[in-house]
Amino acid sequence: MIDLRSDTVTVPTRAMRQAMFNAVVGDSLLGDDPTVIKLEEMAADLFNKEAALFVTSGTMANQAAVLSLCHLGDQIVVHEMSHMYNLEVAGFSSTCGVQVRAIPAPGGMFDLDRLQQEIHLPDLQRAPTTLICVENTFDLNQGLAVHPDHYAEIRKLADNFNIPIYMDGARVFNAAVALNKTVAEMCENVDVVGVCLSKGLGCPVGSLLMGSREFVNRAVRMRQRLGGGWRQAGVLAAAGIVGLEQMIDRMAEDHQHAQLLASGLVELGLNVDLNQVQTNIISIGLPMPAAVFCNEMLALGVKVKNIGTHRVRMVTHKDFSKSEIEQVISNVETCLKNNQSHTGA
Ligand SMILES: *Cc1c(COP(=O)(O)O)cnc(C)c1O
Repeated sequence: MIDLRSDTVTVPTRAMRQAMFNAVVGDSLLGDDPTVIKLEEMAADLFNKEAALFVTSGTMANQAAVLSLCHLGDQIVVHEMSHMYNLEVAGFSSTCGVQVRAIPAPGGMFDLDRLQQEIHLPDLQRAPTTLICVENTFDLNQGLAVHPDHYAEIRKLADNFNIPIYMDGARVFNAAVALNKTVAEMCENVDVVGVCLSKGLGCPVGSLLMGSREFVNRAVRMRQRLGGGWRQAGVLAAAGIVGLEQMIDRMAEDHQHAQLLASGLVELGLNVDLNQVQTNIISIGLPMPAAVFCNEMLALGVKVKNIGTHRVRMVTHKDFSKSEIEQVISNVETCLKNNQSHTGA
Protein backbone atom coordinates (compact mmCIF):
# COMPACT_ATOMS: atom_id res chain seq x y z
CA MET A 1 0.00 0.00 0.00
CA ILE A 2 1.29 3.47 -0.92
CA ASP A 3 -0.08 6.05 1.51
CA LEU A 4 -0.09 9.64 0.25
CA ARG A 5 -2.86 11.02 2.49
CA SER A 6 -0.40 12.89 4.68
CA ASP A 7 3.17 12.97 5.96
CA THR A 8 1.73 12.07 9.37
CA VAL A 9 1.63 8.44 8.19
CA THR A 10 5.43 8.19 8.28
CA VAL A 11 6.77 5.56 10.67
CA PRO A 12 9.83 5.99 12.91
CA THR A 13 13.19 5.11 11.39
CA ARG A 14 15.45 2.36 12.69
CA ALA A 15 17.69 5.01 14.28
CA MET A 16 14.67 6.48 16.05
CA ARG A 17 13.52 3.11 17.35
CA GLN A 18 17.02 2.39 18.61
CA ALA A 19 17.22 5.78 20.31
CA MET A 20 13.81 5.18 21.88
CA PHE A 21 14.92 1.78 23.15
CA ASN A 22 18.04 3.25 24.69
CA ALA A 23 16.54 6.50 26.00
CA VAL A 24 17.45 7.52 29.53
CA VAL A 25 14.22 8.80 31.05
CA GLY A 26 12.87 10.55 34.13
CA ASP A 27 9.63 12.22 35.11
CA SER A 28 9.17 14.97 32.60
CA LEU A 29 6.40 16.75 34.49
CA LEU A 30 8.67 16.91 37.53
CA GLY A 31 11.30 18.38 35.21
CA ASP A 32 13.94 15.66 35.31
CA ASP A 33 13.68 13.63 32.12
CA PRO A 34 17.16 14.17 30.63
CA THR A 35 16.13 13.19 27.10
CA VAL A 36 13.24 15.66 27.06
CA ILE A 37 15.56 18.34 28.43
CA LYS A 38 18.08 17.58 25.68
CA LEU A 39 15.43 17.76 22.95
CA GLU A 40 14.11 21.07 24.26
CA GLU A 41 17.60 22.57 24.43
CA MET A 42 18.41 21.40 20.92
CA ALA A 43 15.16 22.85 19.59
CA ALA A 44 15.66 26.20 21.32
CA ASP A 45 19.14 26.43 19.75
CA LEU A 46 17.94 25.40 16.33
CA PHE A 47 15.22 28.07 16.32
CA ASN A 48 17.39 30.64 18.11
CA LYS A 49 14.81 31.16 20.86
CA GLU A 50 15.43 31.15 24.60
CA ALA A 51 13.51 27.99 25.42
CA ALA A 52 11.37 25.15 24.08
CA LEU A 53 8.60 22.90 25.35
CA PHE A 54 7.85 19.36 24.18
CA VAL A 55 4.09 18.80 23.77
CA THR A 56 1.93 16.01 22.41
CA SER A 57 0.69 17.46 19.14
CA GLY A 58 0.54 20.45 16.85
CA THR A 59 -2.99 21.09 18.01
CA MET A 60 -1.89 21.14 21.64
CA ALA A 61 1.00 23.46 20.72
CA ASN A 62 -1.46 25.90 19.16
CA GLN A 63 -3.87 25.77 22.10
CA ALA A 64 -1.13 26.06 24.73
CA ALA A 65 0.40 29.00 22.86
CA VAL A 66 -2.87 30.93 22.69
CA LEU A 67 -3.69 30.15 26.33
CA SER A 68 -0.24 31.45 27.29
CA LEU A 69 -0.32 34.60 25.19
CA CYS A 70 -3.96 35.73 25.58
CA HIS A 71 -6.60 36.38 28.21
CA LEU A 72 -10.26 35.41 28.26
CA GLY A 73 -12.21 37.65 25.91
CA ASP A 74 -9.26 38.79 23.80
CA GLN A 75 -9.34 38.70 20.03
CA ILE A 76 -6.78 36.85 17.91
CA VAL A 77 -6.33 37.27 14.16
CA VAL A 78 -5.78 34.15 12.03
CA HIS A 79 -5.74 33.15 8.36
CA GLU A 80 -9.22 32.07 7.35
CA MET A 81 -7.82 28.86 5.78
CA SER A 82 -5.66 28.02 8.79
CA HIS A 83 -5.60 24.78 10.73
CA MET A 84 -6.19 26.80 13.91
CA TYR A 85 -9.46 28.18 12.61
CA ASN A 86 -10.75 25.16 10.72
CA LEU A 87 -9.53 21.94 12.25
CA GLU A 88 -9.27 22.28 16.00
CA VAL A 89 -12.93 21.80 16.95
CA ALA A 90 -13.25 25.48 17.86
CA GLY A 91 -10.63 25.10 20.58
CA PHE A 92 -9.89 28.81 20.58
CA SER A 93 -13.41 29.83 21.45
CA SER A 94 -14.23 26.86 23.67
CA THR A 95 -10.95 26.07 25.43
CA CYS A 96 -9.03 29.33 25.24
CA GLY A 97 -12.01 31.69 25.45
CA VAL A 98 -10.79 34.07 22.77
CA GLN A 99 -12.67 35.54 19.85
CA VAL A 100 -11.18 34.54 16.52
CA ARG A 101 -11.08 37.01 13.65
CA ALA A 102 -10.35 34.98 10.54
CA ILE A 103 -9.34 37.02 7.50
CA PRO A 104 -8.18 36.13 3.99
CA ALA A 105 -4.48 35.57 3.47
CA PRO A 106 -3.86 34.48 -0.13
CA GLY A 107 -0.64 32.51 -0.31
CA GLY A 108 -0.36 32.68 3.46
CA MET A 109 0.20 36.43 3.45
CA PHE A 110 -1.95 39.00 5.16
CA ASP A 111 -2.83 42.24 3.49
CA LEU A 112 -1.21 44.60 6.00
CA ASP A 113 -3.92 47.25 5.79
CA ARG A 114 -6.58 44.66 6.40
CA LEU A 115 -4.58 43.19 9.24
CA GLN A 116 -4.21 46.60 10.84
CA GLN A 117 -7.99 47.14 10.65
CA GLU A 118 -8.44 44.04 12.79
CA ILE A 119 -6.08 45.16 15.51
CA HIS A 120 -8.25 46.73 18.16
CA LEU A 121 -6.97 48.39 21.27
CA PRO A 122 -9.07 47.86 24.37
CA ASP A 123 -12.00 50.24 24.48
CA LEU A 124 -15.54 50.28 25.79
CA GLN A 125 -16.94 47.93 23.15
CA ARG A 126 -14.28 46.05 21.23
CA ALA A 127 -12.34 42.97 22.25
CA PRO A 128 -8.64 43.89 22.35
CA THR A 129 -6.53 42.13 19.72
CA THR A 130 -3.64 40.50 21.54
CA LEU A 131 -2.19 38.01 19.06
CA ILE A 132 -1.49 37.65 15.34
CA CYS A 133 -1.25 34.06 14.10
CA VAL A 134 0.45 32.97 10.88
CA GLU A 135 0.93 29.53 9.36
CA ASN A 136 3.92 28.16 7.43
CA THR A 137 3.77 26.11 5.29
CA PHE A 138 0.34 27.39 4.33
CA ASP A 139 -2.19 25.71 4.20
CA LEU A 140 -2.93 22.05 4.81
CA ASN A 141 -3.85 21.29 1.22
CA GLN A 142 -1.28 23.49 -0.50
CA GLY A 143 1.97 23.51 1.46
CA LEU A 144 3.09 26.94 0.27
CA ALA A 145 6.44 28.12 1.64
CA VAL A 146 5.87 31.68 2.87
CA HIS A 147 8.98 33.87 2.66
CA PRO A 148 10.07 35.25 6.05
CA ASP A 149 10.27 38.81 4.65
CA HIS A 150 6.51 38.87 5.13
CA TYR A 151 6.96 38.44 8.87
CA ALA A 152 9.37 41.36 9.03
CA GLU A 153 6.50 43.51 7.75
CA ILE A 154 3.99 42.07 10.17
CA ARG A 155 6.56 42.60 12.92
CA LYS A 156 6.57 46.38 12.35
CA LEU A 157 2.82 46.47 12.64
CA ALA A 158 2.76 44.20 15.69
CA ASP A 159 5.42 46.32 17.40
CA ASN A 160 3.35 49.46 16.85
CA PHE A 161 0.59 47.83 18.85
CA ASN A 162 2.89 45.87 21.14
CA ILE A 163 1.34 42.48 20.39
CA PRO A 164 3.10 39.16 19.75
CA ILE A 165 3.13 36.99 16.63
CA TYR A 166 2.59 33.24 16.80
CA MET A 167 3.56 30.92 13.95
CA ASP A 168 1.79 27.61 13.53
CA GLY A 169 4.84 26.10 11.87
CA ALA A 170 3.66 22.50 11.84
CA ARG A 171 5.56 22.12 8.54
CA VAL A 172 8.02 25.01 8.83
CA PHE A 173 10.91 22.58 8.25
CA ASN A 174 9.52 21.99 4.76
CA ALA A 175 9.23 25.74 4.20
CA ALA A 176 12.81 26.32 5.37
CA VAL A 177 14.19 23.60 3.09
CA ALA A 178 12.18 24.88 0.11
CA LEU A 179 13.40 28.47 0.61
CA ASN A 180 16.93 27.42 1.50
CA LYS A 181 16.72 29.15 4.88
CA THR A 182 17.35 27.95 8.41
CA VAL A 183 14.34 27.57 10.69
CA ALA A 184 15.87 30.31 12.85
CA GLU A 185 15.74 32.64 9.84
CA MET A 186 12.16 31.60 9.12
CA CYS A 187 11.14 32.46 12.67
CA GLU A 188 13.33 35.48 13.39
CA ASN A 189 10.37 37.85 13.43
CA VAL A 190 7.85 35.71 15.27
CA ASP A 191 7.74 35.51 19.06
CA VAL A 192 6.59 31.94 19.37
CA VAL A 193 6.56 29.03 16.94
CA GLY A 194 4.99 25.59 17.16
CA VAL A 195 6.31 22.72 15.01
CA CYS A 196 5.38 19.08 14.44
CA LEU A 197 7.94 16.30 14.82
CA SER A 198 5.36 13.75 13.71
CA LYS A 199 4.98 14.87 10.09
CA GLY A 200 7.82 15.06 7.57
CA LEU A 201 10.47 14.39 10.22
CA GLY A 202 8.96 10.96 10.75
CA CYS A 203 8.76 10.88 14.56
CA PRO A 204 5.93 8.83 16.06
CA VAL A 205 4.47 11.53 18.35
CA GLY A 206 5.24 15.06 19.41
CA SER A 207 5.47 18.75 18.75
CA LEU A 208 7.56 21.60 20.11
CA LEU A 209 6.87 25.18 21.11
CA MET A 210 9.74 27.68 21.02
CA GLY A 211 9.77 31.18 22.50
CA SER A 212 11.07 33.27 25.37
CA ARG A 213 11.87 31.66 28.73
CA GLU A 214 8.97 33.59 30.22
CA PHE A 215 6.61 32.24 27.55
CA VAL A 216 7.72 28.65 28.10
CA ASN A 217 7.33 28.98 31.88
CA ARG A 218 3.71 29.89 31.29
CA ALA A 219 3.18 27.32 28.51
CA VAL A 220 4.24 24.47 30.84
CA ARG A 221 1.33 25.36 33.09
CA MET A 222 -1.08 25.67 30.16
CA ARG A 223 0.07 22.28 28.86
CA GLN A 224 -0.82 20.89 32.27
CA ARG A 225 -4.24 22.52 32.10
CA LEU A 226 -4.80 20.79 28.76
CA GLY A 227 -3.90 17.44 30.31
CA GLY A 228 -0.58 17.27 28.53
CA GLY A 229 1.84 16.97 31.43
CA TRP A 230 3.65 13.77 30.71
CA ARG A 231 6.06 11.51 32.52
CA GLN A 232 8.73 9.29 30.85
CA ALA A 233 8.30 11.29 27.66
CA GLY A 234 12.00 10.84 26.96
CA VAL A 235 11.08 7.69 25.03
CA LEU A 236 9.36 9.97 22.51
CA ALA A 237 11.83 12.83 22.82
CA ALA A 238 14.59 10.42 21.80
CA ALA A 239 12.92 10.02 18.42
CA GLY A 240 12.56 13.80 18.24
CA ILE A 241 16.30 14.27 18.69
CA VAL A 242 16.99 11.91 15.80
CA GLY A 243 14.38 13.78 13.75
CA LEU A 244 16.07 17.14 14.30
CA GLU A 245 19.54 15.69 13.70
CA GLN A 246 18.90 13.52 10.66
CA MET A 247 15.61 14.23 8.97
CA ILE A 248 15.43 17.93 8.07
CA ASP A 249 17.74 18.22 5.06
CA ARG A 250 16.40 15.09 3.40
CA MET A 251 13.02 16.77 2.95
CA ALA A 252 14.44 18.25 -0.25
CA GLU A 253 13.95 14.76 -1.65
CA ASP A 254 10.24 14.79 -0.73
CA HIS A 255 9.86 18.11 -2.51
CA GLN A 256 11.59 16.79 -5.60
CA HIS A 257 9.31 13.74 -5.58
CA ALA A 258 6.27 16.01 -5.32
CA GLN A 259 7.50 17.91 -8.40
CA LEU A 260 8.01 14.73 -10.40
CA LEU A 261 4.67 13.28 -9.36
CA ALA A 262 2.83 16.54 -10.06
CA SER A 263 4.38 16.83 -13.54
CA GLY A 264 3.29 13.28 -14.31
CA LEU A 265 -0.26 14.06 -13.23
CA VAL A 266 -0.35 17.18 -15.40
CA GLU A 267 0.72 15.04 -18.36
CA LEU A 268 -2.32 12.86 -17.71
CA GLY A 269 -4.45 15.99 -18.05
CA LEU A 270 -5.15 16.54 -14.38
CA ASN A 271 -5.48 20.04 -13.01
CA VAL A 272 -2.43 20.79 -10.89
CA ASP A 273 -0.90 24.24 -10.52
CA LEU A 274 2.81 23.42 -10.59
CA ASN A 275 3.72 26.85 -9.20
CA GLN A 276 1.87 25.87 -6.06
CA VAL A 277 3.78 22.65 -5.59
CA GLN A 278 6.43 24.28 -3.44
CA THR A 279 6.97 21.62 -0.80
CA ASN A 280 5.54 18.13 -0.33
CA ILE A 281 1.82 18.70 -0.94
CA ILE A 282 0.00 18.39 -4.28
CA SER A 283 -3.59 19.63 -4.67
CA ILE A 284 -5.20 17.91 -7.65
CA GLY A 285 -8.36 18.90 -9.53
CA LEU A 286 -10.14 15.86 -11.01
CA PRO A 287 -12.50 15.35 -13.95
CA MET A 288 -14.40 12.78 -11.82
CA PRO A 289 -15.85 12.75 -8.29
CA ALA A 290 -13.12 12.68 -5.68
CA ALA A 291 -14.96 10.03 -3.64
CA VAL A 292 -14.96 7.64 -6.61
CA PHE A 293 -11.33 8.43 -7.39
CA CYS A 294 -10.24 7.75 -3.79
CA ASN A 295 -12.04 4.40 -3.69
CA GLU A 296 -10.62 3.23 -6.98
CA MET A 297 -7.11 4.33 -6.10
CA LEU A 298 -7.46 2.47 -2.82
CA ALA A 299 -8.41 -0.67 -4.74
CA LEU A 300 -5.23 -0.15 -6.80
CA GLY A 301 -3.17 0.14 -3.60
CA VAL A 302 -2.81 3.92 -3.24
CA LYS A 303 -4.35 6.01 -0.46
CA VAL A 304 -5.04 9.67 -1.26
CA LYS A 305 -7.07 12.28 0.62
CA ASN A 306 -10.41 13.60 -0.55
CA ILE A 307 -10.42 17.40 -0.05
CA GLY A 308 -13.37 18.51 -2.18
CA THR A 309 -16.05 17.21 -4.52
CA HIS A 310 -13.53 17.06 -7.39
CA ARG A 311 -10.25 17.56 -5.57
CA VAL A 312 -7.77 15.29 -3.80
CA ARG A 313 -4.45 15.79 -2.09
CA MET A 314 -1.26 13.77 -2.29
CA VAL A 315 1.56 14.33 0.20
CA THR A 316 5.07 12.98 -0.37
CA HIS A 317 7.22 11.89 2.55
CA LYS A 318 10.16 9.76 3.63
CA ASP A 319 8.26 6.48 3.26
CA PHE A 320 7.38 7.20 -0.36
CA SER A 321 10.23 6.44 -2.72
CA LYS A 322 11.16 7.72 -6.14
CA SER A 323 10.51 4.28 -7.61
CA GLU A 324 6.86 4.49 -6.49
CA ILE A 325 6.16 7.69 -8.45
CA GLU A 326 5.72 5.83 -11.75
CA GLN A 327 3.42 3.34 -10.08
CA VAL A 328 1.14 6.06 -8.72
CA ILE A 329 1.02 7.80 -12.11
CA SER A 330 0.15 4.58 -13.86
CA ASN A 331 -2.56 3.80 -11.29
CA VAL A 332 -4.05 7.26 -11.80
CA GLU A 333 -4.04 6.64 -15.55
CA THR A 334 -5.91 3.35 -15.04
CA CYS A 335 -8.39 5.04 -12.75
CA LEU A 336 -9.08 7.81 -15.28
CA LYS A 337 -9.53 5.27 -18.10
CA ASN A 338 -12.00 3.25 -16.03
CA ASN A 339 -14.03 6.39 -15.49
CA GLN A 340 -14.18 7.91 -18.93
CA SER A 341 -17.96 8.12 -18.57
CA HIS A 342 -17.38 10.66 -15.79
CA THR A 343 -14.71 12.52 -17.65
CA GLY A 344 -16.70 12.69 -20.86
CA ALA A 345 -13.71 11.51 -22.89
C1 LIG B 1 -0.84 19.04 11.25
C2 LIG B 1 -1.06 20.46 11.58
C3 LIG B 1 -1.46 20.85 12.85
C4 LIG B 1 -1.86 19.86 13.92
O1 LIG B 1 -0.89 18.97 14.26
P1 LIG B 1 -1.30 17.62 15.02
O2 LIG B 1 0.01 17.13 15.54
O3 LIG B 1 -1.93 16.74 14.00
O4 LIG B 1 -2.25 17.99 16.11
C5 LIG B 1 -1.59 22.19 13.11
N1 LIG B 1 -1.35 23.11 12.16
C6 LIG B 1 -0.97 22.78 10.92
C7 LIG B 1 -0.69 23.86 9.93
C8 LIG B 1 -0.81 21.44 10.58
O5 LIG B 1 -0.43 21.11 9.36
